[in-house]
Amino acid sequence: MSHKIIYHASYHKVTQCPTSERPEFAFIGRSNVGKSSLINSLFDRKDLAYVSKQPGKTQSINYYQVDDDFFIVDLPGFGYAKHSRKQRRSWESMSKNYFLNRQNLACVFVLIDANIPLQVIDREFISWLGAHHIPYVMVFTKCDKSKPRQVKKNIEEIQEALLKEWEYLPPHFITSAVKGEGKDLVLDYLFNLADDSIEDERE
Ligand code: GDP
Repeated sequence: MSHKIIYHASYHKVTQCPTSERPEFAFIGRSNVGKSSLINSLFDRKDLAYVSKQPGKTQSINYYQVDDDFFIVDLPGFGYAKHSRKQRRSWESMSKNYFLNRQNLACVFVLIDANIPLQVIDREFISWLGAHHIPYVMVFTKCDKSKPRQVKKNIEEIQEALLKEWEYLPPHFITSAVKGEGKDLVLDYLFNLADDSIEDERE
């Protein structure tokens, strides 16, 4: 079944974000992790999540509405080598404010490149989410780039590294925006969580 996704709006401060009752899911990861490609691939679009990348656009929190059900929130990528310290600080304060203050945030989708070892910045970010009890799942991206065996090994190593710090690991998804791998599982997860969040709210 195909779903309708439309660009809703972009914001620079969490206080400006919509006051809607709809649950929302944040997508985040290091710059270049494949976030825009994944969002586009999930919803069979080509250019939807590139709005935030247009030259001259400052970093913003971008909202997309899926059917009448929930928002996908595309947060700016972190760890881009060319960003100045000031830009990094502004990313941190905007994104962290977002995570700490959004009542309707149902889950954060943390994107991690399946082809390389876990980067310090990813690990720090996951620790920060854990320390603040913010629910998240891990989405391994670009899985078509390495042999399945290598992807499996990388993911196991990443999980081992995280298990040194955490007792439990959240669910994870193995995806490729190029091949469409993992897409149905991610979509099912999103729609199920959205249903659960709406039911929780009614109770
Ligand atoms: P973002 O900065 O996280 O939004 O990353 P993009 O979606 O712009 O992707 C960064 C680069 O990785 C681009 O050159 C994409 O073509 C490439 N890429 C993204 N997803 C995949 C994937 O699933 N497989 C492969 N092989 N390349 C990908």
